[in-house]
Amino acid sequence: MPGTLAATDQPITAENIRRIACDCEVLPMVLDGDGLPLDVGRTKRTAPTHIRAALLQRDGVCAFPGCDRPPGTPDAHHIVSWLDGGPTELSNMVMLCGHHHRTVHAQRWEIAVRDGRPTFTPPSTVDLSRTPRPGGRATPAQHRALIERQLPRPRDPVDALAN
Ligand SMILES: [Zn+2]
Ligand SMILES: [Zn+2]
Repeated sequence: MPGTLAATDQPITAENIRRIACDCEVLPMVLDGDGLPLDVGRTKRTAPTHIRAALLQRDGVCAFPGCDRPPGTPDAHHIVSWLDGGPTELSNMVMLCGHHHRTVHAQRWEIAVRDGRPTFTPPSTVDLSRTPRPGGRATPAQHRALIERQLPRPRDPVDALAN
């Protein structure tokens, strides 16, 4: 029987557990076996504000190569998983949008911080040569501009008065 999220009772995969545990406040979960509740919560798993600020400065809202308009709130990904004892510190973390956070966990991209910049090495299923790719620095402004273009324009106040 797979592990379940206590809040949802939905079966989730081991990869999903690792991704969710990567950067969130509390993850009370029930593992299979004798059904003992196992609280894997630990305060330091969540990146403290000053680390998030430094990550945003270095990586923007997503450092994944080529990402340029990520929606939503970015996740502070642990390069060496917090579950494996990876520290919550700048050299072990990279800012990723939700989509690319799922991607690096599901496809097992290798990430290293070299000279203060993250480098992404794709799995052989993505690139047989496994050539490392330099990380980018996506800005949310581009995403905001995209959304603003799709919003209805507010009525001109002069027109509103005339009616
Ligand atoms: Zn992660
Ligand atoms: Zn991204």
